[in-house]
Amino acid sequence: MGTRGREIVGEHLPRVLELLNKAFADEWLAYYQYWVGSKIVQGPMKDAVISELVLHAADELRHADMITARIIQLGGTPITSPREWFTFANCGYAAPDDPFVKKILEQNISGEQCAINVYNSIISEIGLKDPVTYNLAVQILQDEVEHEEDLQALLEDLGVFLVRQ
Ligand code: FE
Ligand code: FE
Ligand code: MG
Repeated sequence: MGTRGREIVGEHLPRVLELLNKAFADEWLAYYQYWVGSKIVQGPMKDAVISELVLHAADELRHADMITARIIQLGGTPITSPREWFTFANCGYAAPDDPFVKKILEQNISGEQCAINVYNSIISEIGLKDPVTYNLAVQILQDEVEHEEDLQALLEDLGVFLVRQ
């Protein structure tokens, strides 16, 4: 990348790359959790939930892409082995072993809440030390906030549906 563009990050570079790679691992795990969840989910309102899970999976993959672009721009290397995702991730992975729609929604809501905490703390820590990464984290945080809201709305609708059965 441009030398001046990297220079302004200065001594903060190793920490910024660490934060980015950790978030990168979270995004891949979130992508897969949504992707596989969309394939196996069962129960009422399944079609509406599948549509949302598929959209969110695409967003998480796009986040991984945005983060990689910044890692490379800073002269870093994105995690090259999926094995390392578990070591680096902040939020871990919740396997959708129970395919019931309520359980899947709850797992993904927890994941989004973790993601919101992660990006919020990246924003606080980085601040003006690296305005480009700061801006990236703000963009992703906006999506994660929307994801949580979407899933909670579905869970609320599902609650009404289940009570009326
Ligand atoms: Fe994400
Ligand atoms: Fe998300
Ligand atoms: Mg959505």
